[in-house]
Amino acid sequence: MRTIDGSEIDLPQDVFSAWRGRLRGPVLTSADAGYEDSRTVWNGMIDRHPAMIARCLGTNDVIECVRFARANNLLLCIKGGGHNIAGLAVADGALTLDMSLMRGVWCDPSRRIARAQAGCLLGEVDRETQVHGLAGVMGFISLTGAAGLTLGGGIGYLTRRWGWTADNVAGMDVVTADGRLVRACPDENSDLFWALRGGGGNFGIVTGFDYVLHDVGPEMVGGAVAWPASDARGVLEMYRTLAEQAPRELTLVSLIRPAPAAPWLPTEWHGKPIVMLLACHTGRPDEGEKAVAPIKSWGKPIGDVLARRPYVQMQSLLDATQPKGRRYYWKSEYLPRVEAALCDTMIEHASRIRSPYSSMILFQMEGALNELDANHSPVGNRDARYLLNIAAAWERPEDDAEHMEWARTTWSELRRFSTGGTYINFLTEDEGAERMQAALGGALPRLAHVKTRWDPENFFRSNRNIRPE
Ligand SMILES: Cc1cc2nc3c(=O)[nH]c(=O)nc-3n(C[C@H](O)[C@H](O)[C@H](O)COP(=O)(O)OP(=O)(O)OC[C@H]3O[C@@H](n4cnc5c(N)ncnc54)[C@H](O)[C@@H]3O)c2cc1C
Repeated sequence: MRTIDGSEIDLPQDVFSAWRGRLRGPVLTSADAGYEDSRTVWNGMIDRHPAMIARCLGTNDVIECVRFARANNLLLCIKGGGHNIAGLAVADGALTLDMSLMRGVWCDPSRRIARAQAGCLLGEVDRETQVHGLAGVMGFISLTGAAGLTLGGGIGYLTRRWGWTADNVAGMDVVTADGRLVRACPDENSDLFWALRGGGGNFGIVTGFDYVLHDVGPEMVGGAVAWPASDARGVLEMYRTLAEQAPRELTLVSLIRPAPAAPWLPTEWHGKPIVMLLACHTGRPDEGEKAVAPIKSWGKPIGDVLARRPYVQMQSLLDATQPKGRRYYWKSEYLPRVEAALCDTMIEHASRIRSPYSSMILFQMEGALNELDANHSPVGNRDARYLLNIAAAWERPEDDAEHMEWARTTWSELRRFSTGGTYINFLTEDEGAERMQAALGGALPRLAHVKTRWDPENFFRSNRNIRPE
């Protein structure tokens, strides 16, 4: 096994067996069925082999693992949904805590709070809260892990109304580096509560999140409309104009990419370049229909599935486009606005896409998050109004260089439109200190201070690591 300082050790069998006997959940090694599934993450570029994977079944398992790892100086990783593009959930030789058996969600409609265990995927939280016509601020793909997303910020279709996911957390249960269970909320351990809302898993292992809920759905208006990429200039201009006037109930996302083989797009268009708008209106459906009417009547779409639908369906509309196991490489920037020159540059570089799966995406996020104080949480970036993601995706390792080069070149041309900030949850493996600075900016010194208090020996280091002072 690998120790925290990188050396290798063999654990005596009796030490290992005693620890194993204290756990409710299974421990997997490479000889066990389930190890492969558990060690692999969403991004097929990441191929790491933990020495052991503990599939925790409850908070006590997490505490036992932390104490065992501390006592034996082991390198520890935490896997939520395994969606982090940099593969932060797994490391060679480490003890990985796989949280995916901890998926309970309890919704309290009277307090408008959902308590979700740390292994939940976003769609699982949505499904339980929608039983009550409520929703928390989750992301755009329902298979993403709630834990990693929340701890790094979290944006989705409800962000314009209520801010980052992290702005909508009322409290967390946390296992600390010394193996204690503590509460982090505004009245208890408020420094820890502040730091966890953007600073990632640097300060402890969260076992449960209390999400603030809002009235949403169950029926709403949402979906997608697609046109040939030759219409991109006009569609992006419409996107820009509509987004600037859109009520907060409406969130617009634009994409340029080769058409996916989706059943709502004609077969003859599959693989050909298209421009697409996604719209999600979470207010009254009749108002939603009026708000999206200009999109539906624009030009001659090749496909249109923008209609009344259940909110949970909207939340999983894009899932099939992002399967686990493909190779992925992203570059992203926050933007203060969408300007004509940005759109022109995007269109130019979209024409260089050589993979059927790559895309350029503009997420609208302007609204509630801009109104909170810069120090409200370390997610910061309160001047961000759009998020640009240059998302390369492909299948064969031998094509890595070509698609990564596309993303990097496109990014170097589009960077000039940025606020200077970037999203920590979208950073790839090769993005280091400079990009951490761009993501967390002025919050870094205060985060280092909190780290010193809660994890002075930097035990939690398999993350976007913040070193103690
Ligand atoms: C297809 C796709 C779609 C996405 N869509 C969105 C989106 O719409 N909005 C958005 O904001 N982001 C989105 N993201 C980015 C997403 O927020 C990050 O990838 C995030 O890290 C995923 O969380 P996870 O639990 O799946 O990650 P993991 O890879 O499991 O973990 C990521 C990091 O969090 C730490 N961690 C996980 N669980 C815990 C815990 N319980 N306690 C402490 N630390 C923990 C891990 O150690 C690791 O450092 C998307 C990513 C993908 C791949």
